[in-house]
Amino acid sequence: MTPFYRDNGSLMSDQVSLSELAEKFGTPLYVYNRSAIEFAWQEFSKALAGHPHLICYAVKANSNLAVLDALARLGSGFDIVSEGELQRVLAAGGQPEKIVFSGVGKTTREMEAGLAAGIRCFNVESPSELERLATVAAAHGTKANISLRINPDVDAQTHPYISTGLKENKFGINMAEAMLTYRRAAELDSIEVHGIDCHIGSQLTKLEPYADAVRLLVEMVDKLASEGIQLSHIDVGGGQGIQYSEEESSLNVDAWASCIRDAIGDRKLEILVEPGRYIVGPAGVLLTRIEYLKSNEDRHFAVVDAAMNDLIRPALYSAWQAIESVETLPRESKVYDVVGPICESADFLGKQRTLAIAENDLLCVRSSGAYASVMSSNYNTRPRVAEVMVDGDSVHLVCAREETESLFARESLLP
Ligand SMILES: *Cc1c(COP(=O)(O)O)cnc(C)c1O
Repeated sequence: MTPFYRDNGSLMSDQVSLSELAEKFGTPLYVYNRSAIEFAWQEFSKALAGHPHLICYAVKANSNLAVLDALARLGSGFDIVSEGELQRVLAAGGQPEKIVFSGVGKTTREMEAGLAAGIRCFNVESPSELERLATVAAAHGTKANISLRINPDVDAQTHPYISTGLKENKFGINMAEAMLTYRRAAELDSIEVHGIDCHIGSQLTKLEPYADAVRLLVEMVDKLASEGIQLSHIDVGGGQGIQYSEEESSLNVDAWASCIRDAIGDRKLEILVEPGRYIVGPAGVLLTRIEYLKSNEDRHFAVVDAAMNDLIRPALYSAWQAIESVETLPRESKVYDVVGPICESADFLGKQRTLAIAENDLLCVRSSGAYASVMSSNYNTRPRVAEVMVDGDSVHLVCAREETESLFARESLLP
């Protein structure tokens, strides 16, 4: 699946020219490709076919309603981390009985919202959260289905900021405490013990961390069964990595699925998976126009109209994303730092990139479908950018560009 490709030197998505999108909707602009999102989801669906499973798309990767809508129409489940995400999923037509609720800090209000919606499962991350959930469910005369998120203490071999399965990370319950917590959960009248889960990190491109984590989870499932606590699902989390640069390769979903299935063997466990980045990352790009070219002795800068408030991954994680010209034009090639207009040295989209460009040219930042628009802010009173979705020969505006006035509409002058 190549959602973005060149035709006569011009970048296209399906039958649509990216230059035309920039003309029509302005820049900066996020562009998503619907079939790429669907294709990536189907990869999981095919790889897990024949084994009971549920794909719960991790909403936080890209929570645009159109993205959720496309996935809901495929029958996807959703992994949410807030009441806001719950409301989005319901607004997009997602089915509550396919929603799992993750996160270390669920509030009472969020628990109530989840119970009222009838979500499938709360992924509980601490003994205190279990007690709170039991109390909230009892107060509403209902029962909460739970899974315990295990912190298996395995190294996901990824960037420290997106590693979540080590004991120094705040996520999950350690293995020893988890046994005690399961026993406690089994005693609580307002709790139904359903599953076990983990999520060891993001942008994982190797199978070993998954194999290690799932082996530990399965051991715990067996141990619990021997005590009469029978689990019905195992949720292996998300984290499946994508290809950002030519030196890397994405996780192979078929190999990943075989590894999970092998570890589970013939146990009667439904497999839940929570992919985010893998589904939407490669399906999006950010288009930005070059305002100025400047040089500081032998360092060259391309100052563009997108900034760290629109795409924070390079600043936050030192993330590398491919940057290329939308049109192939006859220009002198130089090595540039591609920077935004914000007064922060971390405001860059890419450093030391060889580009053949001129002022007013259009650049495309690849792999911007995940953890990109969702992380944007209004820093410098910059309106959040428009988002469009390409679908064959049609284009849908799926998020309008923010109006500047709305940025301070909630504020007031002194009396
Ligand atoms: C963020 C997150 C995911 C999705 O991670 P990706 O790397 O985008 O696949 C899945 N599950 C949980 C609990 C998460 O916090």
